[in-house]
Amino acid sequence: MIAMKIGFIGLGAMGIRIVTRLLKAGYELYVYDIIKEKMQSLIQLGVKPCNNPKEVAINSDIIMMSLPDSKAVKEILLGENGVSYGVKENSIVIDLSTIEPTIYKECDEILKKRNVKLCDAPVSGGTEGAEAGTLTIIFGGDEDAFKRVQEVLKVIGKNIFYVGPLGSGQIVKLVNNSMAAVNLVGAIEAMVMGIKAGINPKLLYEIISVSSGTSRTFERKFSNHIFKGDFEPGFKVDLMYKDLGEALKLAKELKVPMVMASVAQQLFGMARTMGLGDKDTSSLIKVFEDLTKIKIPIF
Ligand code: NAD
Repeated sequence: MIAMKIGFIGLGAMGIRIVTRLLKAGYELYVYDIIKEKMQSLIQLGVKPCNNPKEVAINSDIIMMSLPDSKAVKEILLGENGVSYGVKENSIVIDLSTIEPTIYKECDEILKKRNVKLCDAPVSGGTEGAEAGTLTIIFGGDEDAFKRVQEVLKVIGKNIFYVGPLGSGQIVKLVNNSMAAVNLVGAIEAMVMGIKAGINPKLLYEIISVSSGTSRTFERKFSNHIFKGDFEPGFKVDLMYKDLGEALKLAKELKVPMVMASVAQQLFGMARTMGLGDKDTSSLIKVFEDLTKIKIPIF
């Protein structure tokens, strides 16, 4: 299995960390990012930079992607010099991005003609999980392909689930991100209320983190970002806004009300209006600081 050559497209906050882990595990890596400089930093670690996704596909047995949205995934697969023009028979294409599940249909029909398995494997666990190789991986697609890529998935993830057909991983991921978003919004507004009422923020955090209001999102976002005044992503507001949009689109199709996710999306929309789209989702606190005229202390 170790002889497998891996292609990786999209060297952002997640991609760069996943590629680094795969390199350390001994895999040969062919990479591409639309921003050339993103490849430069990895060359000294031994990756082979490519000029386009087609070149990545020609050289790889497994092609992984971690891209911002559905448009980018479709362009990388089917666009000019895309993966579909270079991919070898029997290759496996794994999309780690969080995107709209419906876009896979056309891509899958084209890749199938070359006996290529397209799979979705959105991940959870953030940049910390990507760095530590402890991501939750939510796999949808051909079950045999899932078995064939086990060793690779184990390098980047700890909790690895097979869900069902292509696109089903994305559905689970949209459920997760809707919950994480609502969780974060609830944590931020309640913490702001407590701090404005005069409770010591550090003590408030300490108490909530051992009480029923706690969540992983609350703990990570407050301790790693908000109380440090560090809003570098992490997970960008723009990406959360996109994920909530996809969840709401799916809910609309299914006639399922998603009241809380709608409110959360509007709040992340406000953060975008304030110019925070490129910042970590924890920067939502700035919307509340602005509205309530309080400043969360850094410690
Ligand atoms: P990012 O914006 O940091 O990285 C995206 C990368 O894709 C960038 O390097 C960008 O230059 C590249 N790119 C964009 N369009 C491209 C194109 N057409 N061709 C080639 N490269 C292109 O995003 P990220 O935080 O790394 O997230 C990537 C995906 O993983 C998203 O779908 C996101 O929702 C998902 N995700 C992110 C996190 C997180 O904590 N950051 C966690 C789980 C899932």
